[in-house]
Amino acid sequence: MSNDFDPRKASEGKDKDLDGIIRPQDLQDFSGQEKIIANLKVFVAAAKMRGESLDHVLFHGPPGLGKTTLAHIIANELGVNMKVTSGPVLDKPGDLAGLLTSLDEGDVLFIDEIHRLSPVVEEYLYSAMEDFVIDIMIDKGPGARSVRISLNPFTLVGATTRSGLLTSPLRARFGITCAMEYYDTDTLVKIVERSASILKIGIEKDAAREIALRSRGTPRIANSLLRRVRDFAQVMGNGHIDLKIARFALDALNIDKRGLDAIDNKILRTIITKFKGGPVGANTIATAVGEDQGTLEEVYEPFLIKEGFIVRTPRGREVTSLAYEHLGLNPSSGDESTLF
Ligand code: ADP
Repeated sequence: MSNDFDPRKASEGKDKDLDGIIRPQDLQDFSGQEKIIANLKVFVAAAKMRGESLDHVLFHGPPGLGKTTLAHIIANELGVNMKVTSGPVLDKPGDLAGLLTSLDEGDVLFIDEIHRLSPVVEEYLYSAMEDFVIDIMIDKGPGARSVRISLNPFTLVGATTRSGLLTSPLRARFGITCAMEYYDTDTLVKIVERSASILKIGIEKDAAREIALRSRGTPRIANSLLRRVRDFAQVMGNGHIDLKIARFALDALNIDKRGLDAIDNKILRTIITKFKGGPVGANTIATAVGEDQGTLEEVYEPFLIKEGFIVRTPRGREVTSLAYEHLGLNPSSGDESTLF
């Protein structure tokens, strides 16, 4: 069994409770994504001035960047309630109808993983989003008739890691679309320091930076690394996090100096050793590393591209010299025997 730490899956159990405590509640507390925040401020203020519901909002981007957090913040800023659900949970139109009819005027309905809505539920959503009505079929066979139900105006906030899988009719019904970006190190340092202060963890600035650097540009990972590093600090020291204990803990968790985890490194290594550095198609890489192609393309690859380890070419993915350097390999040697 691999003992590699997977920070993407770290927000479970007790950590999930802590998540609730450190999740920013208003725009003031939310760091980064400056453009999105600046625009949302205007749209929220305008909707409030007009006394209307906010236009529907779609957040897309890799996991852990704050899509759910922003949905909560929007509801807080609008001063309305939010109902939360997710694409795979809503498998019958009746489930959606029940939720929609329970919304008060201006409320927010948050649908996570909205790309996983079933086509029939999605169809019902169209008229709900556009005209705030749903047509429900009553009875079956010759007696079947459709009953129109009016809804209170509401705001749908959708989140997806796979915007490419959204159908165009659904996408077109969102008035506001926000592409979430990876966070820079300075912003992640702020996020780590804020979380540490809420959780009453003492941490040195350079240790916070070390955690930020190894967080794949992702606040959720920064927060979960902070909690794991705190465990090391408590067991091996006096609970205070300094650079030495942070480095020790992060190394023990197999998070390398560029924030790449075991799977990131496996992807790079596979492209180099099995496909001579590329170009190679995403589906081939996915099969070779044993990951789902969608996950590879939407979760791992964007960060590897952003950090300059991989480039996308018309013929497939290629690693860059940085990837060779990172793995301590020589691009021209062709000898990968030292790798495994
Ligand atoms: P997503 O919905 O995109 O997967 P979440 O909104 O659930 O991501 O965010 C994951 C965690 O990261 C949350 O618990 C939240 O505390 C933290 N987080 C996300 N964005 C920020 C931010 N900009 N500032 C501070 N914390 C953040």
